[in-house]
Amino acid sequence: MPGIEIIADPKLSDRTSIRLGGTAIAELCLKDIKFCEKVPGLLASLGGRPALIGAGSNIIAADGPLPLVLIRFAGLDKNPSFARNADKTLVTAPAFLPLPALLRSAAARGLSGLEGLTGIPGSVGGAVAMNAGSFGAETGALLHSLTFFSPRFGLKEIPAGEAAFYYRRADYMGLPFGGAAEALTQMTGPDQWILLLSAVFALKESAENEVLGRMRAFYARKKLSQPLTGKSAGCVFKNPAPQIPAGRLLEEAGLKGRGAGGMRFSPLHANFLINEGQGSYAAAADLMEEAVALVKKNSGLLLEKEVRVWS
Ligand SMILES: Cc1cc2nc3c(=O)[nH]c(=O)nc-3n(C[C@H](O)[C@H](O)[C@H](O)COP(=O)(O)OP(=O)(O)OC[C@H]3O[C@@H](n4cnc5c(N)ncnc54)[C@H](O)[C@@H]3O)c2cc1C
Repeated sequence: MPGIEIIADPKLSDRTSIRLGGTAIAELCLKDIKFCEKVPGLLASLGGRPALIGAGSNIIAADGPLPLVLIRFAGLDKNPSFARNADKTLVTAPAFLPLPALLRSAAARGLSGLEGLTGIPGSVGGAVAMNAGSFGAETGALLHSLTFFSPRFGLKEIPAGEAAFYYRRADYMGLPFGGAAEALTQMTGPDQWILLLSAVFALKESAENEVLGRMRAFYARKKLSQPLTGKSAGCVFKNPAPQIPAGRLLEEAGLKGRGAGGMRFSPLHANFLINEGQGSYAAAADLMEEAVALVKKNSGLLLEKEVRVWS
């Protein structure tokens, strides 16, 4: 179909950084915003639940055939654009732009604000949907405006203040950005999805070498404490409170380094579940379940997943 490439039987293991997951019904690759309106009709004819995918760095998908249709915005022009606005520079980035590429472009122009997001893989759309953050920076707080498509709201550009940003989730009018793939969203209808198309960030003028210096320092700190090159989906569990890191609770409950079936909680950081090569979703699910039970027993606290589980 013009403007939308339809890929049959897409494998989640090829599309997620943890390299797990079976085969979805189809993947719809939207090449241009102007074809958004065609997606609901295609979904209706293909059946299955819509699963909006960015770079797949926060998703753990189940094995076997999955009743999902992946929706990916994958336009051609990846370049962010820059415009002055009062004391800020507005940087418009397509949702499919890799977040690290956005950080590099901003740094090259001496624009500051995004440095705390250094080392977070994934796409701009995924960062907005997850309100990704680290070192005290959060994506939502850096935004000026957003453009998205949803069968419920149509094609819309909103000021960032109209969206709501929480700890690792974000929504518009109560409907989370993303799709109905995740049990946590409580969504039922096939039209309950919001595809982010682009985001505008408001950044401050600084000097290139200062921005790069901060990025290097953040990356060095991350590399020391997190297994950044392993096959993972980032932190598995949310911190129950800012001063109670899930990684510490997992470590205290004896999960650091524990593994089975080709999956292992990293010996470097207990909140990262690593696929050692031959891992499966079944092994990951068992370890996550065991971790929740052991942490509850050890600390009394119930861990909630940060990763999005697709099944
Ligand atoms: C090594 C490693 C380190 C990490 N470190 C951090 C960290 O420090 N801080 C942090 O917050 N996260 C971290 N993560 C997790 C992950 O990188 C982020 O959550 C990232 O923002 C996800 O982006 P993505 O494009 O990969 O999204 P995906 O994994 O593809 O999707 C994640 C969610 O976003 C939704 N989504 C994706 N794209 C869109 C779109 N265009 N429109 C609507 N919804 C969309 C999906 O439906 C899904 O619900 C890390 C992951 C890894 C592997």
